[in-house]
Amino acid sequence: MADTRSTVERVEGFLALDSRGFPTVGALVGLACGATGTAIVPAGASTGSFEAVERRDGGPAWDGKGVTGAIETVNGELAALVKGRDALEQRAIDEAMIVADGTPTKARLGANAILAVSLATARAAAAALGLPLYRYLGGLGGYRLPVPQFNVINGGVHASNNLDIQEFLLIPHGASSFGEALRWGSEVYHALRRSLLAKGHSVAVGDEGGFAPDLASHEEALELILGAIEACGLSPGRDCSLGIDAAASELYRDGRYVVAGRELASNELADYVADLVDRFPIVSIEDVMAEDDWPGWVLVTERLGDRVQIVGDDVFVTNPVRLERGVVEGVANAILVKLNQIGTLTETLDVVAQAQRDGYRCVVSHRSGETEDTTIADLAVAVGSGQIKTGAPARTERTAKYNRLLAIERELGSSARFDDWVARRS
Ligand code: PGA
Ligand code: ZN
Repeated sequence: MADTRSTVERVEGFLALDSRGFPTVGALVGLACGATGTAIVPAGASTGSFEAVERRDGGPAWDGKGVTGAIETVNGELAALVKGRDALEQRAIDEAMIVADGTPTKARLGANAILAVSLATARAAAAALGLPLYRYLGGLGGYRLPVPQFNVINGGVHASNNLDIQEFLLIPHGASSFGEALRWGSEVYHALRRSLLAKGHSVAVGDEGGFAPDLASHEEALELILGAIEACGLSPGRDCSLGIDAAASELYRDGRYVVAGRELASNELADYVADLVDRFPIVSIEDVMAEDDWPGWVLVTERLGDRVQIVGDDVFVTNPVRLERGVVEGVANAILVKLNQIGTLTETLDVVAQAQRDGYRCVVSHRSGETEDTTIADLAVAVGSGQIKTGAPARTERTAKYNRLLAIERELGSSARFDDWVARRS
């Protein structure tokens, strides 16, 4: 007789606020055995045009960002579809939701509604088996803690300052454990704060918890972070390196990039970024070209791909078809992995497997609008991504993920691994 303990009996949608104070979708899935799982989906601001569609109500309430329709879909159509199924059959459940939606972008039911149910199902299944999520998803292969990319200076659409580059990232790759990387991140973050204050800059923060001062140039932002690394007695390039996310789709107007008060063609932007890579210990550059500028992407990959990690976010949108095109054309050498860009757990796992097969590194990522949900911490360990990007080492919606990784590292004990992917490149 079939085991019915993991049969889904309850599917309930709910509203939660994200870190920007906008509503988002949560779901609770309950099983016959009494196990439950909940998940809350995040939301981006510099969203790619090719992402799965987040359903919002529009209208005057919640500044148009209400999710009443998406929650009704969870409680109605998705609940009817998922109830009675075995929560351990994640792939079948995700597939059923994709088929029921019927659009290539999950626009009818909403990727926010679908992802909430997908993730809550996985959490309920893990609970039913008495396993932590990373173990349920990753099995014995889930033991590698990710090197964090801390977003310590915010610009672009995540802040109201004058920096065009969206993210200035501190990457403590030389640490011996995740715990040590987190300590370095916190120490450098506070050294940076002191240095900003000493120079008379604002220490107000942007959407991802990094400082958001007005600065003279992007170079000044990188110099300030370098100075903070050194002030902590750490060695730039060996202990901690730098990264940027230009989020260049946001800078793209009529075929040119508006950067630092200039209008640049793709090759000039590549020159600009190459110059930064020459002058600073930068090991990872993300979205340095716009989502549609495939020739620009090829150019910058040819130019810098053997020296730095080139991460595709908006260009790939965690989508297997766009990643495949990138692999064929020689675009980037790493992919940012965001669950809500594609909209189900199994599709996300499949894209990670595809990337790893094609020799692309994976950076599991938060969104700028986040919540207390820590799924991405478990996901990063489960798939052995080796890297995670989830904001500054400050603000609870960001630290929730880092704290979850600390807990996983404690739980894994001597089985935990933390690899310096930068040192291993050569
Ligand atoms: P978003 O930003 O969540 O606003 O899209 C994150 C990123 O661009 O990496
Ligand atoms: Zn990005």
